[in-house]
Amino acid sequence: MKIETIAVHSGRFVDTATGAVTPPIYLSTTFEREPGGEYPKGYNYTRSNNPNRESLEKCLAELESGEAAAAFSSGSAVSMSIFQTLSPGDHILACDDIYHGTRHLIQLFGTWGITSSFVDMTNLKSFQSELRKGTKLVWIETPSNPLLKIIDLKSISEAAHKAGAVVVCDNTWATPVLQSPFNFGVDLVMHATTKYIGGHSDILGGAVIAKKNDELFQKIKEMQKSGGAVPSPFECWLTLRGVQTLPLRIRAQSESAMLIAEFLNSHPKVTKVHYPGLESHPAHLLAMEQMKLFGGMISFEIKGGKDEAMKLAANVKLFTRATSLGGPESLIEHRASIEGPESKTPQSLLRMSIGLEHPDDLIEDLKQALSSF
Ligand SMILES: *Cc1c(COP(=O)(O)O)cnc(C)c1O
Repeated sequence: MKIETIAVHSGRFVDTATGAVTPPIYLSTTFEREPGGEYPKGYNYTRSNNPNRESLEKCLAELESGEAAAAFSSGSAVSMSIFQTLSPGDHILACDDIYHGTRHLIQLFGTWGITSSFVDMTNLKSFQSELRKGTKLVWIETPSNPLLKIIDLKSISEAAHKAGAVVVCDNTWATPVLQSPFNFGVDLVMHATTKYIGGHSDILGGAVIAKKNDELFQKIKEMQKSGGAVPSPFECWLTLRGVQTLPLRIRAQSESAMLIAEFLNSHPKVTKVHYPGLESHPAHLLAMEQMKLFGGMISFEIKGGKDEAMKLAANVKLFTRATSLGGPESLIEHRASIEGPESKTPQSLLRMSIGLEHPDDLIEDLKQALSSF
């Protein structure tokens, strides 16, 4: 079935007790045992499993065409649980333009003897030269954050597998609607469901989907159950509700983002637009092969520096100045200042998450803000 149909139906059922079309929320933390001690319905305690979480996991596995999925309390909890399957001495090789929270978390694991390095994965040779004997995990984000670099999933996965590493793709920005990492050789897909999948800026969540329900996935699943960084039944319910409109939302957001990127690209006060849909993007052709559309995220650099970027952000009326992404409302953010003093993000850069407003209104807003200083 096509992804729109999966998004509407997968993991959902008509409640047999009441006929309710929308699934109930199972808040119960505990489930009754049979007189013999068994749990024939498959649930015993909500940290281990819960009907709402199970529904969400089934749906996410199907959306990514993976064998299994595990849902977590945040995107970062997913990353943490994957890193927790490693052993002291193991090495993580990650792309350089990675979500700053993931970079920070990888570095925290240094305390447990896990080494890491960050490399520009748009250059296969640089990537290969960073692979080591102990490289167990290769961490890809494409499009990357915040520069929207496009990484060749197929060639990076091939090179990583030759070196004996497992490949993870953070597919938060592309969503399963625009990019299917398993088709290019990736082993695990992760999502901050906080973003496009939840889609309404009202839940914090994460998920990992496994191409194969293998030993590694079982280890992650063990971390999920034993470590307990799990989403609540209500959050699972809200996320599954958000998924139903994911294909329509991301398509509309991508179409608007394309128009806005073109507008910015022709504006005299804008020096650079980072959007893979533009022909001027260095990996536009690769993006056309790997992605169905180019997503709702745009970064751009403005003539001048931090002051000009802050002024533009101060003068928008429709965009909200806030971090995060993937909701119905458009957001704008000065990325370097939220990433902190170690950030390598240009001071003149603003990142936008394009929402579901009419693109003409968003362009008007940017136009007036750009002319106000
Ligand atoms: C937000 C985000 C994360 C982290 O997700 P949280 O739910 O905030 O923990 C990871 N990767 C990417 C690409 C993100 O945008």
